[in-house]
Amino acid sequence: MMQTNEKELVQNLLSTPKKIAIIPHRNPDGDALGSTLGLYHVLKQLNHEVKVISPNDFPDFIAWLPGSETVEIFEKDKENTTDFLNTSELIFTLDFNALHRTGDLMAETLGKISAPFIMIDHHQMPDDYAQVTISDVNFGSTCELLYNFLTDLKLNHLINKDVATCLYTGIVTDSGSFKFQKTTGNTHRVVADLIDKGVNNPMVHESLFNTSSYSRLQLLGRALENLKVLPNHKTAFTTLSQKELYEFNFQKGDTEGIVNYGLSIKNIDFAAIFIENKDEGIIKISFRSEGSFDVNEFARKHFNGGGHINAAGGKSLLSLNDTVNKFIDILALENKQ
Ligand code: 5GP
Ligand code: MN
Repeated sequence: MMQTNEKELVQNLLSTPKKIAIIPHRNPDGDALGSTLGLYHVLKQLNHEVKVISPNDFPDFIAWLPGSETVEIFEKDKENTTDFLNTSELIFTLDFNALHRTGDLMAETLGKISAPFIMIDHHQMPDDYAQVTISDVNFGSTCELLYNFLTDLKLNHLINKDVATCLYTGIVTDSGSFKFQKTTGNTHRVVADLIDKGVNNPMVHESLFNTSSYSRLQLLGRALENLKVLPNHKTAFTTLSQKELYEFNFQKGDTEGIVNYGLSIKNIDFAAIFIENKDEGIIKISFRSEGSFDVNEFARKHFNGGGHINAAGGKSLLSLNDTVNKFIDILALENKQ
């Protein structure tokens, strides 16, 4: 929870209408876009001039979120978004813990801004760039933490149907539909209140999970065919090459969630997916675990990434094959069991 002096600072900052930018991390997911748009709808009601500026585009499965049409994309319109950022009087950064998570160029722009920052986030080890850092790894989502933040500030009455829909979406996506470890009594109490405030919950689930394309299911099929199991290491991993992505007409967001299938195998507690991205010249990796195996540490140590204990990501500049071989070598070297 916020300390009294932080609360006063935030209340003070929000007490008069301001120009405010709200920023999610690069490749925004349901929690990142849900929390930024949720806060957007709240701050608008307080008569601030607000804009959500995303580092890059968001995937279709969250593009229906209320207010998404107002989001501006830094990488598509550097001039106008940079101008808005430079003239903002307050910057919220949501669902990330270090400016570099917005990408190199946007991080450089943000690094030069003198306006105060407020961070609301649930990742480990937050960087020290914000005047107010609301960071708590005990929360399963930034959206749940944001709900508590709004309650703390006595702004709960501003949670209308649009705000509730945005927050509900982030909680659903980051909790694996209420099943991951950090799903608490508080999570369900928050969700109950959001439904009371008007969320059409079946519609949200339908929009998030039942709008797949045929080619996306075929891509999933290929990823499942490519799945390898290393029983000695309780590990399952899969790959998707750029060629395979093209073959199945890959759209942003299509690979979301595929990594979790590895974990559904009995006696597997560590899963990874390696996705070749020729445009960026990297292999993008997602890691997931069950129980105590810390994938945040694993991603930080070996693959230039980070995240949470049970969900993290990273990248590699090696080829897809060499990256996979490196991964297998590390499991052997670290004697992962
Ligand atoms: P995903 O695998 O869904 O892309 O990401 C899982 C979690 O790891 C998310 O919480 C995300 O913020 C974090 N994450 C993903 N990729 C990276 C990365 O390259 N660096 C860091 N620090 N965190 C990442
Ligand atoms: Mn999150």
